[in-house]
Amino acid sequence: MEALASFKKEISSPKNIFITTHVKPDADALGSSLGMANYLKKKGHQVTVVTPTDYPSFLHWMEGNDLVLDFSKEEDQKLAKEALKKADMVICLDFSVLNRVNELGELIRKSDAYIVNIDHHQDPEDFADFRYWSTEAAATCELVYELIVKLGDRDLIDKDIAECLYAGILTDTGGFRHPNTTKNVHLVVAELIDLGANVSQISNWIYDSNSVNRLKFIGFAITRRLIIREDLHTAYFVISKKDLKKYQSRTGDTEGLVNYALSLDGIKLAALFSEREDGIKISFRSSVDVAVNKFAADYFNGGGHKNAAGGKSDQSLKDTIERFEKLVEEHQEDLFHENAVSAN
Ligand code: 5GP
Ligand code: MN
Repeated sequence: MEALASFKKEISSPKNIFITTHVKPDADALGSSLGMANYLKKKGHQVTVVTPTDYPSFLHWMEGNDLVLDFSKEEDQKLAKEALKKADMVICLDFSVLNRVNELGELIRKSDAYIVNIDHHQDPEDFADFRYWSTEAAATCELVYELIVKLGDRDLIDKDIAECLYAGILTDTGGFRHPNTTKNVHLVVAELIDLGANVSQISNWIYDSNSVNRLKFIGFAITRRLIIREDLHTAYFVISKKDLKKYQSRTGDTEGLVNYALSLDGIKLAALFSEREDGIKISFRSSVDVAVNKFAADYFNGGGHKNAAGGKSDQSLKDTIERFEKLVEEHQEDLFHENAVSAN
């Protein structure tokens, strides 16, 4: 409570505020960042939102998108560095360890600004002056909503802010299907609808804006790039650089693909390996009784939530897959044991 009072005091007079979120932002990352930015602008602050990389075009509808700086672009990076230098406050949303924002992480660590971390991931690193964090929350957007209410500013949440926040809750709960879909999620969403969020419009923007190439790519991946190991309760996609090029893949085109592997009857562990410029990016998903965050952290330099995590590999695609299969074989007992549990 004391910490909240200190944050409240910090934002009680106009400040220069720098907001950032994790690499390849998803709807929760961008929605919480822009929701927070739009709120703080209404309170009279100067706000700059910086993402470490680009993000999918199906998120471009969010209010404030046009002013977001992409740190991976040379011209934006210069402006972002100036904004960070001037910042009185840095707000880090939807990530809990500074290596999730690439080089920006070390710049934030060195900054003299008041650092805020709002997040729902496991094992947070201790880098913030004020942390608003709960792994019970389905989405960072849920926490941002609660924080604004606790600050006594519910009235400042307009349609644009409500829609940014709704988007993050919608996607981080997998469309209200994942086990993180709590009573509180529905209560918060009810409030956001009351505040003007147009839910069918948002679903349409997020889920029904495929390019023909993307749909064909998904068809290709399911028919040609899905490996099913029923004996290991495991199914995974292997997508090469060449595949991505062939379907002119754009940022966000592989999003959700891993869920097709998990949707198979009897499959408890699903993965997606995609070969990127900077190595192999891995997404893990699991059924309720299997924990993938620890597996991702222990073997693939990653982390995340119990049933949705990610990681990376510097080995070749082939070597990464071989290693993955071997690890699953070796750790079957821990992974698929009936009573297998891990800290949520
Ligand atoms: P996705 O598979 O959608 O990229 O990520 C699933 C979840 O795992 C998200 O909550 C995301 O923040 C987390 N995650 C993905 N990649 C990494 C990673 O490399 N490191 C950590 N710590 N978390 C990750
Ligand atoms: Mn999130």
